[in-house]
Amino acid sequence: MKNILLFGAPGAGKGTQSKKIIEKYGLIHLSTGDILRAELSGNTELGKEARTYMEKGELVPDNIVIGMIEQKIKKNATAKGFVFDGFPRTIEQAKALDKLLKNNNTEISLMLALKVETEELKKRMKIRAEKENRTDDTAEVIENRIKVYKEKTTPVAEHYKKQNKYTGVSGMGTVESIFAGVSLVIDKI
Ligand code: AMP
Repeated sequence: MKNILLFGAPGAGKGTQSKKIIEKYGLIHLSTGDILRAELSGNTELGKEARTYMEKGELVPDNIVIGMIEQKIKKNATAKGFVFDGFPRTIEQAKALDKLLKNNNTEISLMLALKVETEELKKRMKIRAEKENRTDDTAEVIENRIKVYKEKTTPVAEHYKKQNKYTGVSGMGTVESIFAGVSLVIDKI
């Protein structure tokens, strides 16, 4: 199994690049944001609980997202590998993921970090808000999501740097030029 952890701030292009990666390399896309949004539109109990956090740009509690990922990994036990998008977002989630993968005799092969300047992130999220009608892309919530990313999520990069799994790639430019950089790194593993 090859498991790629696509890392980056909100608006860095993780969703867009994930889609291209799974197409080219035949991996399974696991986006906690997408799974949570599906729960929200299904108006499930989990969705109702998650909504209060998501609308404020706060993180949904670790136990909820870890449980979701655990189920998806179990369901896809024979996959060639996974692209984790928007997960893990805390050190606790990273430790839980390492354990889950170890129990399945596999591990994170690579953390690929998309590097994008903060002003560009805000610009992209504003455009996305208009296109996708996402309620968590308002100016105030965007500021909070970036703050939460810096405080709670950036330590996750340190966690995988210690394991020598981290590679940074420029997330600035066109979708295709970014994907060219992404592919170069993935081809090495
Ligand atoms: P995303 O689409 O990845 O930007 O996620 C949208 C929102 O879903 C985030 O702002 C969080 O409220 C929530 N969320 C997504 N993934 C996670 C995660 N791994 N841990 C906690 N909350 C998450």
